[in-house]
Amino acid sequence: MKHFVAPEPRDLATRLARAERRTARERAARLEAEAIAEQGLRRLYESQQRLLLLQRITDGANQTAEIETALHVAVTEICRHMDWSFGNALLVSGQGDTVTGCDVWYAADPDVMFPFVEASRGVSFGKGAGLPGRVLMDVRPHWIDDVMVDPNFPRVAAAAQCGLAAACAFPVMVGDEVAGVLEFYARRLIVPDHDLLGIMGQIGTQLGRVIERDRARRGLIHDALHDAMTRLPNRTLFMERAESGFARMRSRQGAGMAVMVVDLDGFKAINDTLGHHAGDALLIEIARRMQACIAAAEDTARDGGAAWQATLARVGGDEFNVLVDGVDDPASVGDLADTIHRCLAAPSVLAGTHVRCQASIGIAHGTTAYGDVGQMLRDADLAMYRAKSHGRGQSVTFTDQLGVEVRHRTQLEQELRQAIAERQFVLHYQPIVSLTDPDGVCGFEALIRWNHPSRGLLAPAAFIDVAEETGLILFIGDWVLREACAQASAWHQRAGGGPRPFVSINISPQQFLQPEFVGRVHTVLMETGIAPETVRLEVTEGVAILDAVRTSTILEEIRGWGVKTSLDDFGTGFSSLSYLQTLPFDALKIDRSFVAAMDDSSTSRGIVRAILDIAKTMGMAVIAEGIETAEQAAMLQRMGCEMGQGFLYGRAEENSVAFARL
Ligand code: C2E
Ligand code: MG
Ligand code: MG
Repeated sequence: MKHFVAPEPRDLATRLARAERRTARERAARLEAEAIAEQGLRRLYESQQRLLLLQRITDGANQTAEIETALHVAVTEICRHMDWSFGNALLVSGQGDTVTGCDVWYAADPDVMFPFVEASRGVSFGKGAGLPGRVLMDVRPHWIDDVMVDPNFPRVAAAAQCGLAAACAFPVMVGDEVAGVLEFYARRLIVPDHDLLGIMGQIGTQLGRVIERDRARRGLIHDALHDAMTRLPNRTLFMERAESGFARMRSRQGAGMAVMVVDLDGFKAINDTLGHHAGDALLIEIARRMQACIAAAEDTARDGGAAWQATLARVGGDEFNVLVDGVDDPASVGDLADTIHRCLAAPSVLAGTHVRCQASIGIAHGTTAYGDVGQMLRDADLAMYRAKSHGRGQSVTFTDQLGVEVRHRTQLEQELRQAIAERQFVLHYQPIVSLTDPDGVCGFEALIRWNHPSRGLLAPAAFIDVAEETGLILFIGDWVLREACAQASAWHQRAGGGPRPFVSINISPQQFLQPEFVGRVHTVLMETGIAPETVRLEVTEGVAILDAVRTSTILEEIRGWGVKTSLDDFGTGFSSLSYLQTLPFDALKIDRSFVAAMDDSSTSRGIVRAILDIAKTMGMAVIAEGIETAEQAAMLQRMGCEMGQGFLYGRAEENSVAFARL
């Protein structure tokens, strides 16, 4: 049996003390454990909160394409989370050497913070300047314990008014470059810690992504609205601005507006001769020059108190449009057009060659009569075509009169197309007689008439010009050639072995110079079976001037088959004797204006005599046109003119009437 032995009192005290120490140790350990656990929990909580913060900012960033919105979410969330008084976002501008406030900020207490908000709004900081500038320069976060004593803090006065003390700022990164800066301010000390730096780094990266996306989006929009080659606005952007300018003008809120159509003269030829690279370089150079001179004109106008704004756009290959928005004075627009002409006057050096490229400008001024900008541009375009017809480097302003003329021409063109399709043309034949034997008809000149469905029989003066301009003369001329040859061939057959009058056919410059012309003549000769020596082709001096070498080759070839050639309207054009020498014509036709003037002008008589002399020297026959009186006929005959044509002998008449004279 064991006995319980009571401890000695000394032992008891020792044991108690030991137990107490153990308890104390245990409590301390427990407290420490509790403290550690609490701290861990707090850390966990804090890091959870920070993760949530990051999450909210990331969500905000992903939900918007606007960088400002994403920055605003970030600045607000960070301030609230950290309990900081003010947050502000700045974006890098220029060549990446400045950051500028983008008016995105958060103030816990806007009323109190007003002076500092004002001092921060839109302010720029160069590299190293102030807090944002330091972040930009060093590409890392910066902390200031007390802005009041910081030597590099320009907004110190405003900060003092708001009671701000500590500050920190972080970069927003796109790749390796700083794209923006977020800065924060508090009235108490901000202690930088590792976690905070980490989270700020991540926020910076998230925001950087939005900036990247935003840049890409802006890039796409820019590309969609600009011409890739000249970097000028394109037609879409031009129309956008023109339409809003037009709307302002219509609502009478703004001043007037004008549009210009600028079309380069002879650009195609430059492109063809010097190549597309040179052509592109020229377009870029011209765009740059026009842009510069328009900007300078804008500045001058602004200095003079006239606040118009111009948009230069490239809207086609060598076509530019200018919108002059907010202009009331037509003279300013005319001056601007003159400025553009002047700036294009200096030659450009392309592929080692000096090239001068002028422009034709059409101007239309906005009026309330216009329904939309499209109509204005159409009118400016019409005016531009008119300017082109005046030669190079000209401007024309659209007027109602011009509009009427152009509409008339357009209508005529449509009617001419119909006339060709429906064969509304007829040929009349005017006799050409021998002056020594006026009864002896040598030939006929085929003269076209248009049997217009509503206007009756029209003379060539009413439509030949438009036919020339529109190229329709090629179809008409082709018909005339075939019809006249077929008709003359029929006469010859009917005459049997009798006289075979020649037929004179007017050939337009365009028709004559088209590559297929010689072939066409040959085909018609073959198909109609007409004797080539009874065909005379009349061309005017204009043809010879256009391309003398080519003209000479064509004439030679045609004459080789026996066809005769006449130089029509001699004396009215350029009348250069040098080309007469080189061009093979069988006959000269003295223009009827000289014949008419012979009656009372000795000078005219002298001219006619001289023409006859020249022709004789060169071995050419002469036909006098427009003989109306017996006196004229007698005079011409005395001077030795062989043939004549005019009302005295007969007007141009229908085929059957003409044939009856034979
Ligand atoms: P052109 O070739 O010089 O033709 C002579 C013009 O003078 C004709 O006018 C004729 O009617 C007119 N004429 C003839 N004798 C007299 C006269 O005694 N007094 C007056 N005042 N005039 C006279 P038309 O038929 O009106 O033709 C005018 C011009 O139209 C022609 O001038 C010619 O350049 C052009 N033309 C006529 N037919 C054709 C054609 O088939 N093709 C082309 N391309 N042009 C044509
Ligand atoms: Mg003629
Ligand atoms: Mg003539």
